[in-house]
Amino acid sequence: MGRRRRIRPSTAEIVVIGNEVLNGEVLDTNSNWLARQLYFLGLDLRRVTAVRDDLKEIAGAIREALRRRTEWIITTGGLGPTHDDMTLEAVALATNRKTVLNPEALEMLRERYARLYEMGVVKESELTPSRLKMAMLPRGAKALRNRAGSAPGSLLRYKGSRIISLPGVPRELKDIFVNEVAPLIRTEARRVVRYVAGLFVKGVPESSMAPVLRELAASRPKLYVKSHPKGIEEGVSLVEVVVHSEGQDPEEVRREVESAIGVLEERLSAFQPAELRRMSMEEVLGGGE
Ligand code: ATP
Repeated sequence: MGRRRRIRPSTAEIVVIGNEVLNGEVLDTNSNWLARQLYFLGLDLRRVTAVRDDLKEIAGAIREALRRRTEWIITTGGLGPTHDDMTLEAVALATNRKTVLNPEALEMLRERYARLYEMGVVKESELTPSRLKMAMLPRGAKALRNRAGSAPGSLLRYKGSRIISLPGVPRELKDIFVNEVAPLIRTEARRVVRYVAGLFVKGVPESSMAPVLRELAASRPKLYVKSHPKGIEEGVSLVEVVVHSEGQDPEEVRREVESAIGVLEERLSAFQPAELRRMSMEEVLGGGE
């Protein structure tokens, strides 16, 4: 009664695929980038799993995500033309179907290799067996256009879930996500609006500000208030304080965070010697891309 119904955002998981990630050769920046996109698109990312280029391992990770009824399952890596690229075989295995030659993907690859041939990048425009392999998608999947590379992405709707498979090459992953996946999430997912802001605090040790943060968090339970110690410079503590909120009304969510930052500015500046600075969005969001 009178209580606003809270929307439960759609759930998501990321499955990172590749020996190079688990061998420590490649830093997995894809899941970090995807996590940030999903956060600000307003989904509820529950888990990130990394597995080797192994059919059973990949299929197992997808099955587990399906068992949890995850609504958006996003895989990255293993879509290329070589024998160790087996993500789509694994998606097919996990959903009890076969891979088939997908006409949309075939057309995308035809266009792509015709263009690469014209540009002199490849010696022949024909779709060789290795190239055709990238058009083999799980039966019933939709091909997602890759404007930055060759292998199309794949979208398979299965029961209440969507399994979206994207390439491992970061530029290609981003291209398909931004142009094909984000619009789909905007129209089909249950989403919340999120807002985040931060203060950089010099001269107040984290332990001293803890009661202030605890009180703020207790009086505004909808907010997520978190301090991140950044070390000590010339005998002075450096701490970042970040405030997150989510809800349905963008203006209200922004106001809640800004008002909490105002309270923190007031309380923390009472400490001597305190130096406070508003952080830019880039600083708050860290060193990701
Ligand atoms: P393509 O279709 O272009 O061959 P792919 O889907 O087969 O792509 P992979 O073979 O898995 O992709 O990876 C290609 C390259 O992309 C890797 O060598 C690595 O440099 C980069 N890469 C793969 N996974 C990740 C990741 N999780 N984070 C960052 N970079 C990655």
